[in-house]
Amino acid sequence: SRKQGSNHDHRFNVVMIGDSEVGKSNILSHLTKNEFRHDTKSTVGIVFGTHNMKMDNKKIVKAQIWSSAGKEKAPFYKKAAGVIIVYDITRRDSYENVKRWLTEVKKYASTNVVIILVGNKADLHDLRAVTTEEADAFAKKENIFFMETSALKSTNVCDSFNELLKQIYYVFK
Ligand code: GDP
Repeated sequence: SRKQGSNHDHRFNVVMIGDSEVGKSNILSHLTKNEFRHDTKSTVGIVFGTHNMKMDNKKIVKAQIWSSAGKEKAPFYKKAAGVIIVYDITRRDSYENVKRWLTEVKKYASTNVVIILVGNKADLHDLRAVTTEEADAFAKKENIFFMETSALKSTNVCDSFNELLKQIYYVFK
């Protein structure tokens, strides 16, 4: 039942959050343009990109992805069907702050919002400061999805996002 002139069947908003420098801009540009930027400045204001995915039943789901470091957060969360919380596996503080980000999500977002925790920079094995097991246990406890990614090596970036979109589709379609 696609609308005439539309290239998708469903459209959802997804908000990407997390401390600065964890790799949000690079994950976003990877999802939307398939490129990695080494010299990006840390996210200020709002970045926006779109990602389309075909579901098993041939429906096309379009995700509009927002990443905001601004103060006006409530409107973004309110419209979000999904939230991606990113931390850097080499920076313990960025992982500890996930709890705070989660509190913010619970405060502003819809109660059935689908949340995925993403541990980025998984390519930096030698600098790892957060174990996979620890983050996985935390995610299970909070009842949210979890994946480790590398925007540099393109590992799991699309997979984690598609997993999120599938869940959103089943919850919100
Ligand atoms: P943001 O502030 O969260 O948007 O972070 P950026 O996307 O701007 O990335 C911050 C820095 O981390 C940049 O220097 C990126 O090149 C680097 N970076 C991002 N993702 C990865 C990754 O997966 N692996 C490695 N090694 N570096 C990354």
